[in-house]
Amino acid sequence: MNMVDLRSDTVTQPTAAMREAMMASPLGDDVFGDDPSVNALQEKIAALTGKEAALFMSSGTQSNLCGMMAHCGRGDEYIVGQNAHTYRYEGGGAAVLGSIQPQPLAQDSQGLMKLADVQAAIKPDDPHFARTRLLCLENTWNGHPMPAAYLDGMTELARRHGLALHLDGARVFNAAVSDAGAGGDVIAALRAITDRFDSVSVCFSKGLGAPVGSALCGSRELIDRARRWRKMVGGGLRQAGLLAAAASHALDHHVNRLADDHALAQRLAQGLATIDGLAVRSAQTNIVFVDVADGRGPDLLAHLERQGVLATGLIGLRFVTHLGVDAAAIDHALASVRDFFDRAAPQGTAARGHAVY
Ligand SMILES: *Cc1c(COP(=O)(O)O)cnc(C)c1O
Repeated sequence: MNMVDLRSDTVTQPTAAMREAMMASPLGDDVFGDDPSVNALQEKIAALTGKEAALFMSSGTQSNLCGMMAHCGRGDEYIVGQNAHTYRYEGGGAAVLGSIQPQPLAQDSQGLMKLADVQAAIKPDDPHFARTRLLCLENTWNGHPMPAAYLDGMTELARRHGLALHLDGARVFNAAVSDAGAGGDVIAALRAITDRFDSVSVCFSKGLGAPVGSALCGSRELIDRARRWRKMVGGGLRQAGLLAAAASHALDHHVNRLADDHALAQRLAQGLATIDGLAVRSAQTNIVFVDVADGRGPDLLAHLERQGVLATGLIGLRFVTHLGVDAAAIDHALASVRDFFDRAAPQGTAARGHAVY
């Protein structure tokens, strides 16, 4: 069966044209700085994000880690959302490998922290405290683009207190496409986001559809520091141009099409919203969250899998659209969800035996 895989936008296969670009890419040893395809990608993404330099990374986690370590030293601190990737989903790398103390703060349902909380978390210069050095934001967060006013408030506050600013922009191109709106200038929207930050990490392996890779973008000085950390954590790759060529191809051909993913997420969200027993939480870009009533999330997931549809989650389910799915796939997913609720067992019985999530 051809699965409709909505677990993540990381599951995409390289397109035929991307594979061709990879096979045609000139290669060299990137640890010597000799790989023309890596160098071309780094120049391209630095220009797009408006930074002096960029560094190709194995993953978004590696990119964020090297970025944070380039900003902060031992005994420094970064302020970050409680549910931000750089705090919650990267194995504590900044603390473990960087001796950088995280200061996590509450976020609302849209991923936003309160200005007053950030302000209160910035510590005075006093030997009791870690040195607050960096504010880390994430855009998109759980598929939510950050409002411009929020970015303005946060970045102005950080600047006022001498903090550096890092953006985990794993899906920043989704944010830019959403901010630009239909027919808008995506790259101008991207720059409006990235110009506020000292460093930006971008994933090529998510909605952009490359098989592997991320980039850290920033000043030449910051990127030089990050390059040392990248080597230390094992990210000095050799003929990495094979992968960089895929990322370059993605930047050339897969940015504007992110709007298609957003439209499919809307199609899915609108369909799901008509089904009793589901509450759609959000679908601003390519990620749809739904809450499933009566603890039936796991049963629904299992049913969907039998119908050839993959998603993730437990109580709330997550569906992510990407270049590997089309309207027919979304409609099949919707039909499968409807089918589950149509043949629902009598109220409340289906969830028995699944009391603990
Ligand atoms: C996926 C993701 C990362 C890291 O990506 P990996 O390449 O899987 O390490 C970082 N931040 C956010 C917000 C992400 O979604």
